[in-house]
Amino acid sequence: MNFVATIPLTPEGPVNDRLDFTADLAPYHQPVLTNEVSQALIVRPGGKYIDCTAGEGGHTQIILEECIPGGHVLAIDADPKALEVARCRLRSHQSHFTPVQDSYAYLEEIAYSHNFNKADGILIDLGLSSFQLEASGRGFSFQRNEQLDMRFDPSTPVTAAQIVNNSRQDELARLLKDFGEERHARTIARAIVHGRPITTSAQLGELVKRTVGPSKKGRHPATRTFQALRIAVNSELENLKQGLQQAVRLLKPGGRLVIISYHSLEDRLVKTAFQQEARGCICPIEVPQCACGHSPTLRVITRHIVTPSEKERMENPRSRSARMRVAERLYKEDH
Ligand code: SAH
Repeated sequence: MNFVATIPLTPEGPVNDRLDFTADLAPYHQPVLTNEVSQALIVRPGGKYIDCTAGEGGHTQIILEECIPGGHVLAIDADPKALEVARCRLRSHQSHFTPVQDSYAYLEEIAYSHNFNKADGILIDLGLSSFQLEASGRGFSFQRNEQLDMRFDPSTPVTAAQIVNNSRQDELARLLKDFGEERHARTIARAIVHGRPITTSAQLGELVKRTVGPSKKGRHPATRTFQALRIAVNSELENLKQGLQQAVRLLKPGGRLVIISYHSLEDRLVKTAFQQEARGCICPIEVPQCACGHSPTLRVITRHIVTPSEKERMENPRSRSARMRVAERLYKEDH
């Protein structure tokens, strides 16, 4: 992974102000599609923006610099450590920035309790940060030998190790299929059950590799298994559904919703939600007369996904799977 940053990312103040747990991680997580996000959100001075997945604050910083003077960013992240990095890094902007450790699945509640009744723009950058992958010690990567935890928020009740070691074989197979779209779900589930207990990320990565052999596409064969476990541990798809609905309601007319996803399960959810919100009647096709009374709330800005340029992909391999979709909240009279 390439950590070279394109924007000034060093924290103001002495270097030893950085937190202990990120001391070996320099510089910060490199935010993806920065120009595209900035253009899509149409950030303006004095505006109010919500970064639902602030991580280490890369996108937050960009939004902050464009909304000052007068603007404000509500920066949410489930991971208290990542958010602490963002808070330290952005302390020179502290009067324009409110960090909140919580899940964006509770977006409306969080926003209302911080005087954000409406927002000019909302960003959800899914996936995980370089800090989480490389330095959190939570077993997100099969390339590291760490405890299989995978929780963004340490108060989440179930770890990846508990799922791997306590689930029935058929439950594991379903999870790998539903959340990883893993072709070898049943074979891997059987191998996991026979290989238990499995406690570390490297152990699980090796077991999957031994079971299904090297992947033809050059990706590690455990990529989908790790994705599935991460989604399950953090209820990622459910959170996205909840967050999307609330984001639409929170936007001011003309406000933009920008979502960056990293795999097809997430992207499909975003695409479907946007299409649904852009439609008038959403009654089932067999209903002869509209009974839903639904009117469109969004205009889809990106007919197709926006992906990183070749240059960005080369400089930041993590950006390779990123795909952005953008929608705009409609004015009442547009309905
Ligand atoms: N845009 C960020 C990086 C985001 S990485 C930057 O530029 O630094 C994705 C982040 O989403 C991670 O920090 C992860 O903890 C957070 N996350 C995942 N699910 C979440 C949820 N339900 N609520 C809030 N944050 C979440």
